[in-house]
Amino acid sequence: MEHVLNVEDVFKRYKSQGDYAVKNVSFSLLEGEIVGILGPNGAGKSTLIKMILGVICPTKGQILVFGNNPLRFEKKDKVKLGVFLGGKSNLIYHLPVLDSVRLFQSIYRVPKAVFAENLARYSQALQCDGFLQQRVATLSLGQRLRAELLCILIYEPQVLILDEPTAGLDPKGRDLVLEQVAAYQKENGTTVLLVSHSME
Ligand code: ADP
Ligand code: MG
Repeated sequence: MEHVLNVEDVFKRYKSQGDYAVKNVSFSLLEGEIVGILGPNGAGKSTLIKMILGVICPTKGQILVFGNNPLRFEKKDKVKLGVFLGGKSNLIYHLPVLDSVRLFQSIYRVPKAVFAENLARYSQALQCDGFLQQRVATLSLGQRLRAELLCILIYEPQVLILDEPTAGLDPKGRDLVLEQVAAYQKENGTTVLLVSHSME
């Protein structure tokens, strides 16, 4: 099996901070594996994810994604990733949900027929059918997070990196999201990196 991710002796210290936000982290992720990163608020989880995505640079250590430095990611690798960063929305606030899904279709060049099939499948699985025509601004938190996930699954990424995808949800809403991530993983052999502060 291929290594999707290698994190080796990684440290991160922000210039404005005295202490390390991430200290000596090493792990790897094989194709098809599901790995959870658990820790309390402020533990450095999101900092680690941002380094994996090449948004910020480690102070020390090495990260390889698909064998490459994420700071020099190529488009062909980027399109394999489905990323949700908690608290940050990918949806266009004042437009219908479907417009955001179509934006993802366009960016990731999902062919029409594949889009139609995936939209039907994942919208139903994530219980989005009832609000696809509704403006994002009118959604509840649970609906919004399911719509965020729909935008990601629509292009069927090989790797899911989900940073707190269920934060703020009630147990039922959380279970629905996690069950659908698990179902998608099982069906596609997806590699999943799931970040949470919730120990359950
Ligand atoms: P988590 O995601 O586990 O809650 P974070 O990675 O967001 O943790 O934060 C880890 C630590 O790094 C915290 O102490 C936070 O204040 C600090 N931190 C995060 N982002 C920045 C930043 N851009 N500049 C300075 N400090 C930061
Ligand atoms: Mg975080």
